[in-house]
Amino acid sequence: MKKNRSPWIHQLNHDREHVALKEDASSDVVVVGAGIAGISTAFFILRNTDKAVIVAEKGKLAHGATGHNAGQIASYFERPFSELCEEFGIELAGAAQRDVESAWQLIDLMFTEAGLTIPLARFMGQAGFTTYDQIVRHLKDNVYRKKAGLRIEEFRIADSAPFAGSIPKEYEGFYTLVPQSEVLDLLQTDNRAYVASLSFQKGCLNSALFCQEIFQYLRKAYPDRFSLYEHTPISKIALHKGGAILDAGKATISAKKVVLCTNGFEGFTIINEGGLAVDAKFHHYVRGMVGYMSAYLEPMNKPPAAISYFPPGNFNAGDPFAEDPYFYLTRRPFDFMGNDHMNLISVGGPELSLSDRDAYDGDLEYPDAEKDKINAFVRSTYDTAPNKEIDYQFTWHGLMGYTPSGVRVVGEEPKNRSLVYNLGCNGVGILPSIYGAKRISDILAGKKPDRSIFDPRE
Ligand SMILES: Cc1cc2nc3c(=O)[nH]c(=O)nc-3n(C[C@H](O)[C@H](O)[C@H](O)COP(=O)(O)OP(=O)(O)OC[C@H]3O[C@@H](n4cnc5c(N)ncnc54)[C@H](O)[C@@H]3O)c2cc1C
Repeated sequence: MKKNRSPWIHQLNHDREHVALKEDASSDVVVVGAGIAGISTAFFILRNTDKAVIVAEKGKLAHGATGHNAGQIASYFERPFSELCEEFGIELAGAAQRDVESAWQLIDLMFTEAGLTIPLARFMGQAGFTTYDQIVRHLKDNVYRKKAGLRIEEFRIADSAPFAGSIPKEYEGFYTLVPQSEVLDLLQTDNRAYVASLSFQKGCLNSALFCQEIFQYLRKAYPDRFSLYEHTPISKIALHKGGAILDAGKATISAKKVVLCTNGFEGFTIINEGGLAVDAKFHHYVRGMVGYMSAYLEPMNKPPAAISYFPPGNFNAGDPFAEDPYFYLTRRPFDFMGNDHMNLISVGGPELSLSDRDAYDGDLEYPDAEKDKINAFVRSTYDTAPNKEIDYQFTWHGLMGYTPSGVRVVGEEPKNRSLVYNLGCNGVGILPSIYGAKRISDILAGKKPDRSIFDPRE
């Protein structure tokens, strides 16, 4: 058994001072949770309004899902796009997809304005498929992308695949037939089980380091309007007309608006004084999944990459509730022990569903069985040289919360507009939480946003 050791947390400044709230405070806005959602929300509120912001974090900045993810910037939902179109309609689903994709520009804006110099890689990512069912499912998404006016993603299918000649007519024009070697080159594998590839924009970012750097920037840029309190758990939120009081243990915080950026796992009660009860049980609807990851270092001799691999027999891949995991691999430059000429190869895939979310303990050791699954995948698909010993320097796990719809919740609580949400981790959360942050700053600036699939529902 190994410890929960994340490469993203490893790169943080461990000498940074953590300030806890010791006396009562007040602010225009309190953001609860200092992961990428909370820090980005603070960034855009401070930038786009004149409001003061306190961020209250129960542990340490970016030590939740943000510090234990795969660090891959991806713009897809953890649910087939076609399903979103069928549930919400093509127009709203298309708008939501565009919104998430717009967060690429928001990241650029944050990097530029905060003067960040941490690594950010952006490139064409790939997904590799082994079965007809996986391929048709993703082709269907491409058809819906076109209907929604979105750019079609490039789909290549090996002309030697047994079903290459019998793909339904409705998908004509949505893929090209190519030699299998082209597919294997894109997927950087010699595993001939892979017969199709899908290309789309992806990136790599240490989202925990990103939060730390944005926090340092906010502290300097807005010394009078911004504070972060760590080791400051919020146990109760009392909403009243026009504001809220938060119980932070040793002290209280009063504010006009409270933005929950807690990933869906709150651990507090919400009282709506004089109004309808707010469903504080949101987190009971969120399904907990623990994702396991391992990473190793090698010389920096290849460019950054992000590739997802859907092995055979994985019909439901992409479905967060599927039994069979898919594997996702990233390769990026990684400064390790003063050596900045290394690439970090990090691989995730195995996920375990939690029957009782509260049972998740971030300090739990990393089971050897999960590491073995990842190693077996790496040896069969990515790093296949015989007799090579791979030394996994990092093995870590993190908690993903899947909302019932698989969609993040962003906006004001209909029963009391003092309460605002940017939460619901889901498996892909970097871009959606940044988009959510900007949307919330617009709302707080008095703009009325268009109706969206992210809106909190009654
Ligand atoms: C294994 C794994 C792999 C992933 N891979 C990717 C990926 O490659 N790409 C991608 O886009 N997304 C990925 N995700 C999802 C992504 O990491 C999350 O969606 C994103 O980090 C969520 O950010 P957040 O700020 O909403 O939540 P978090 O980072 O979890 O932050 C929430 C914060 O709220 C705090 N908090 C909770 N309750 C309270 C309270 N009562 N009082 C005060 N503070 C509180 C917590 O301590 C925590 O710090 C992955 C997630 C996991 C677990």
